[in-house]
Amino acid sequence: TSHFTNLPQIPTDEPFAVNASYIKDPHPKKVNLGIGVYRTNKGDPWPLRVVEDAEKAIYHVKDVSRHEYLSIQGDREFLRLAADLVFDLESAQNGADTPQSSHARVTSIQTVSGTGANRLGAEFLTRNISPGNVWIPAPTWANHHTIWDLAGVPRKEYPYYNALTGKFNFEETLQTLRTHSSKNDILVLHACAHNPTGADPSREQWEGILSVCKEKGLIPFFDLAYQGFASGDVGKDGWAIRRFFEEGGIEFVVAQSFSKNFGLYGQRVGALHVVSSAAACGATDDILATLCHLVRGEYSMAPRGGAEIVRTVLGNKGLRAKWVEDLDTMSTRILSMRTALFEEMVALGTPGDWGHILKQIGMFTYVGLSESQVFAIRERHHVYMLKSGRISISGCEYSYRATSSCSKEILLD
Ligand code: PLP
Repeated sequence: TSHFTNLPQIPTDEPFAVNASYIKDPHPKKVNLGIGVYRTNKGDPWPLRVVEDAEKAIYHVKDVSRHEYLSIQGDREFLRLAADLVFDLESAQNGADTPQSSHARVTSIQTVSGTGANRLGAEFLTRNISPGNVWIPAPTWANHHTIWDLAGVPRKEYPYYNALTGKFNFEETLQTLRTHSSKNDILVLHACAHNPTGADPSREQWEGILSVCKEKGLIPFFDLAYQGFASGDVGKDGWAIRRFFEEGGIEFVVAQSFSKNFGLYGQRVGALHVVSSAAACGATDDILATLCHLVRGEYSMAPRGGAEIVRTVLGNKGLRAKWVEDLDTMSTRILSMRTALFEEMVALGTPGDWGHILKQIGMFTYVGLSESQVFAIRERHHVYMLKSGRISISGCEYSYRATSSCSKEILLD
């Protein structure tokens, strides 16, 4: 007999399952559009040039402390630079009105990448704020469901995506939150490059979301997995968070990942930032002690290697400039793939309107295929996508050309 015979059936994680099927497929012209990782024109991984430079600089120096424990909070210089990237604290400090208070409102802790930041943030809020519900976008990154289920907070969805327009469903989202949300509910927001749809709110729409958060007393939870990766510009991709921050009175959290914008996927580099209101300046010691307590009981502290790379790059003017170039390389390739895909669909006379491919931003697009079309394309043409029709644009290759009959045949199924 075993204690483990009656374990619950856990659904498989789709992107990883699709990736495993792709790896198993012996077809020479297979294409993987399932997993959210950057790929070159040849379909290969791309270690950022600046990361290779930083690694050389780090390993060049003999340092007997290299493998010592970090503090529970993590690498503090990394955290200072990471927070500055999100909130632009240095320029806020140079500004006329709020020299000290910007820093005093942010508590940061190193995490096991963006997933770990989401998880720690969920645990922190659940234990200390007792939210009635968490509002997550429909659809969203599937792990949001798992994370908030594990935290034990009832999940509700807001109607994020309008499949007819291929855009963010602003009116209905606001209407839903106005009518059904309650004070202290959490509102999960993708800061930029919404996964899986690639449809983001406009700046004006962000103002509307901010108003409803204030009106209803919601706690925004920004998931920031693509800063700089989406548009190539960290300020532009971080705009919504900076806008909420500047508002002063609103408290929120940010789960920051360096997986995509530094290509450090397996290194697990991230941070959680808790923003308290201007009136609560000085709460940061207690917030930090609470976060450290959760981390200590879970895994003691985040790993140090990847954070060291990010710290080295962000803390050095020359390397930072090179990082911006690398961001430009990645975001430009993704944008050019959007155009290439769109043009190819049109040139092949594929039935339907494909304009949303150009309008959406970031790693992913919801192409608008049905589940049966997705499976037909996988079976017959060895192109791997998620069943929702989400594709990772960066998996597209110039060398791949579908035949006209392929796109027509499948889309008319
Ligand atoms: N949040 C979103 C929306 C994502 O798309 C991802 C990665 O795909 C993450 C968070 C976290 O990724 P990681 O844990 O690799 O930083």
